[in-house]
Amino acid sequence: MNSIVVKFGGTSLADVAQIRKAAAIVQSNPERRYVVVSAPGKRDSTDVKVTDLLYQCYSIAARGDDFSGPLSEIHARFSEIARGLQVSLDLEAEFDSIRRRLTMSPDQDYVASRGEYLNARIIAAYLGFDFVPPEETIFFTDNGKLDEDRTFRVMGEKLAALPHAVIPGFYGVMPIGVIRTFSRGGSDITGSIVARAVNAHIYENWTDVSGMLSADPRIVNNPKVIRRITYTELRELSYMGASVLHEDAIFPVRTVGIPINIRNTNCPEDPGTLIASTDGTEGRVVTGIAGRKGFSAIVVEKSMMNAEVGFGARLLQIFAEHGVPFEHCPTGIDMLSVVVSRDLFNSSRDEILQNIQEELTPDAVSIHGGLAMIAVVGQGMASSRGTAMRIFKALAEAEINIRMIDQGPSELNIIVGVNEADYENAVRVIYAETESLM
Ligand code: ASP
Repeated sequence: MNSIVVKFGGTSLADVAQIRKAAAIVQSNPERRYVVVSAPGKRDSTDVKVTDLLYQCYSIAARGDDFSGPLSEIHARFSEIARGLQVSLDLEAEFDSIRRRLTMSPDQDYVASRGEYLNARIIAAYLGFDFVPPEETIFFTDNGKLDEDRTFRVMGEKLAALPHAVIPGFYGVMPIGVIRTFSRGGSDITGSIVARAVNAHIYENWTDVSGMLSADPRIVNNPKVIRRITYTELRELSYMGASVLHEDAIFPVRTVGIPINIRNTNCPEDPGTLIASTDGTEGRVVTGIAGRKGFSAIVVEKSMMNAEVGFGARLLQIFAEHGVPFEHCPTGIDMLSVVVSRDLFNSSRDEILQNIQEELTPDAVSIHGGLAMIAVVGQGMASSRGTAMRIFKALAEAEINIRMIDQGPSELNIIVGVNEADYENAVRVIYAETESLM
């Protein structure tokens, strides 16, 4: 039988009413067999996520202070959920053991994981599904990386024996038996792991928006929803900060081509966004626009640089040694610029500049700050002409100075650097020019 893995985010499970909606979605299709859950999220914009309350408990406990305030808040939220769903679970015993751990040996990842753990226990009981603990199925290696082979095998074997199951998101176990969480938003990764382990035909990621938008709605009025996007395009967009999905969540499913469908728990009839290995959209040239402020370009000049073997490698090595990843690297014949995050660069600025002087003896080094980068992404650009011309012409007509241009080798992105002050306007101008190509 086909199986669908469904993952519900925190707002989809924030209270009894939301959990009922999620349960109805699961029950409406018998192929939705495996359910991954987040901890209860915000019920409204003023609310606090259970995971944030758990982190608060941990930091208070680590100082040796009284954490009973936030812990009672969490207890009250789960009691209300369990009562509303008429699930009987010994929450007193669960909270006693969390309290004991917080008092005796507070451990941040263990404490943070309890939101997903308790929510999964309650939802499994409500749906009448088995509960599968990540403590026994998701494994990290000693260096904190996911042990993919063991995880896919053990999780796959475990779930093959169960028609239905609920699995807490966000965490797994270290070789020494202690809990380890993924980074924030990591339940998306658990969903992907489960989808891979059972070889699901689709991974549905249920959230509170009807899919990914083609531009930032805080900048562009009513941007189009992206109905379909490739994993690669998503990487290009998420890399600039447009993500509705944890950026590591595509990797477990991408290699085997399981599509991810972003859906809205509050509007289940909306098709959402399908993330797959092929585009499948006829005639679309541009898929989306994303961008970010906060970059600096460090420009290094040296005569005959192009003939000096290893110059670029040594320059990038200096940034690497100071833990500064480079984002782009546009070059001229005697000039190389490295575009980096301004904050990361500033934290080791003097040392990096000194190393460049000592190791590369350049003719000149200059720093160009205040740079915003905008990525225009679309698989269709590789096989069509004129998109770059339209973008640059539109920016010129809006009197926006382009400070940098970079095109990825597979021609699926065009990246332009502009002054931070021009950023929002530039995104609007590019969107208006390319909307008809989307
Ligand atoms: N609850 C965790 C967080 O708030 C993980 C998740 O929801 O994906 O980051």
